[in-house]
Amino acid sequence: NDYLELQAIRKNFGNTRVLDNVDLQIREGELVTLLGPSGCGKSTLLRCIAGLADPDSGRILLEKKDLTQLPPRSREVGMVFQSYALFPNLTVRENMEYGLKMRRASKDVMRRRSEELLALVDLEDKRDAYPQQLSGGQQQRVALARSLAVQPKLLLLDEPLSALDAKIRKNLRTEIREIQKRFKMTTIFVTHDQEEALTVSDRICIMNKGVIVQDGIPEALYNSP
Ligand code: ADP
Ligand code: ADP
Repeated sequence: NDYLELQAIRKNFGNTRVLDNVDLQIREGELVTLLGPSGCGKSTLLRCIAGLADPDSGRILLEKKDLTQLPPRSREVGMVFQSYALFPNLTVRENMEYGLKMRRASKDVMRRRSEELLALVDLEDKRDAYPQQLSGGQQQRVALARSLAVQPKLLLLDEPLSALDAKIRKNLRTEIREIQKRFKMTTIFVTHDQEEALTVSDRICIMNKGVIVQDGIPEALYNSP
């Protein structure tokens, strides 16, 4: 009953091995955190799943389909980055509708979906604002909503809170967890912050030097030496 299955993922950059035979299984609706120090390969693993990087070998199965055979746009994967990566020349609403427009959704569908998501992240009064008119936390909520607009099968969050102030970080991580549960969205959350990992996760995988060295529920991590 694995929803996402990574099999023996390897990736080198030059002579450096960045991912060393990574295996990982994730069930539908689970939020799994990859926790590990900077440079251990977390981003690279997400980028391989999203199609922004190619593994040298290995398979990535989402509902039994091998994603490595599909171009990024066909993978039905949403991704949020540390830097919000919104389109600066598009309004909040246009940012949210962009992915749907690319998929040739009707105006009605785009409008309905963007309004639902604006309400979800409580930014209805910012629908016509441009990204630079928003705070960092607001921009990141737009980025999150935008990634959900196309109803992805998998959500990849790459240090989504790292650029934000401590207080906003705490609020937003609670919000992300609530949204993730509400939509039963299968999610991989990347962080180097242990407290963050402990508070948002169903399961935590600890990564070090391109290898998952520990995999368990947050309580197990908390009680380990
Ligand atoms: P993390 O997300 O855990 O901080 P990354 O996956 O970003 O780690 O990086 C893992 C290692 O791979 C680092 O040593 C990084 O410098 C290297 N790396 C990442 N992307 C590239 C790239 N495009 N070219 C060369 N080296 C890279
Ligand atoms: P993150 O903060 O998510 O770990 P990085 O800042 O390490 O990401 O990397 C940002 C971008 O630079 C990515 O596209 C990554 O692939 C690339 N990159 C990272 N390290 C290197 C490197 N040593 N050489 C070339 N590109 C790199």
